[in-house]
Amino acid sequence: MRIILPRNLLALFFFAAFCLRGICAVPFSWKLASFYGREYLSLEQIAEFYDLGSVVVPPENASARILQKGGRSLSFQINGRQVEINGVVHWLSFPTHFVDGVLWVSRMDLSKSVEPLLRPDKIQEQRTFDTVVIDPGHGGVDNGARGKWLPDEKTLALEMGERLKGVLQKSGFRVVMTRSRDIFVPLEDRAAIAAMLPKSILVSLHFNSTVSSVSGVETYALAPISAPSSSAEKVRATDNEVFCGNECDPNNVLLAHSIHARLTLTRENPKAESRGVRRARFVVLRECPRPSVLVEHGFVSNRNDALLMGNPEYRQKMAEAIALGIGDYMMQLKRGVPMADQFAQEGQVSARKAIPVTQPVVETAPETLPVIKREPAAKTSPFSVFSFHEKTNKAENPSAPFRPQAF
Ligand SMILES: [Zn+2]
Repeated sequence: MRIILPRNLLALFFFAAFCLRGICAVPFSWKLASFYGREYLSLEQIAEFYDLGSVVVPPENASARILQKGGRSLSFQINGRQVEINGVVHWLSFPTHFVDGVLWVSRMDLSKSVEPLLRPDKIQEQRTFDTVVIDPGHGGVDNGARGKWLPDEKTLALEMGERLKGVLQKSGFRVVMTRSRDIFVPLEDRAAIAAMLPKSILVSLHFNSTVSSVSGVETYALAPISAPSSSAEKVRATDNEVFCGNECDPNNVLLAHSIHARLTLTRENPKAESRGVRRARFVVLRECPRPSVLVEHGFVSNRNDALLMGNPEYRQKMAEAIALGIGDYMMQLKRGVPMADQFAQEGQVSARKAIPVTQPVVETAPETLPVIKREPAAKTSPFSVFSFHEKTNKAENPSAPFRPQAF
């Protein structure tokens, strides 16, 4: 038997102490505060936990608080529901609270929005996929949104789906379409297609419509259990329901973030206005047991958005941006490093800052913007009958200056 000499004993002691320190590392102890019966954490604690330095008051915006280090950044709106995470606007489930100089963030938002994006290596759920289920929204009797300058949403969505399919297939992904022609497919059936494919993600493609002044790109992830959707102020009883889509909560928000970043922040698409990553309980998202998102490419009801989306080159760029976002999502799961870190390392800093949704930036509209001739569009390729470079719209007085209203 070997005798341990005192000197070796000392070394052994330090080695054991080192190991024990690793094993018994003191867990980070969060100090919780309660607002309206909900748990909140201070921004200072979040800074310490994620090693993001100290809280900064941005000189140009006193109503925000920033944490920033390397490529990572968190910029919270005071008493509001918006946060910019690594340059991408996200809608929080609950407003932040600013009390005695301290900003408090809900535990729900930290775990469901911040954590998956800053530490993708901790995501336990589906970490790999080889198939993208593309879901062109609406179809058949369901026309979707209808605007006066573009084909129906169902047609736009299918055309965008075909473009995305082409880009993804070139990148080596297997692609499955929930519909490849103008037919009605029930929403549950669309989610069921992804459910049948264990190594898949689902991307639903849509085009928005509302009052003419609103414009921009939105990307939706399923709302977490017991959190309101982004369009609602308060939690409703139905928000407590558990859907199979909630199993993929961390993946859902990471996928939405990755796609939205490419759609709005990078040079892939510098013209897209960001209305943020939002939460909703759309059937196709809540019934999908695979990571899923829903992209609203823009508003057919808005002249500027219609101008952009009517351009085939722009639609191609959007398809490429979505594909790049899917690739980024995959890389983050693979490497466990946020894309923000990777971009920072590559010197590929965002081409433009995300635009707060309260201050929409509107591109200068052209003096001529034709109205689509709807009848022939339904029969043949809808995109062949209109071009924003043609002067076809006499009735709408296209030369009248376009003045979008602030909302
Ligand atoms: Zn739609």
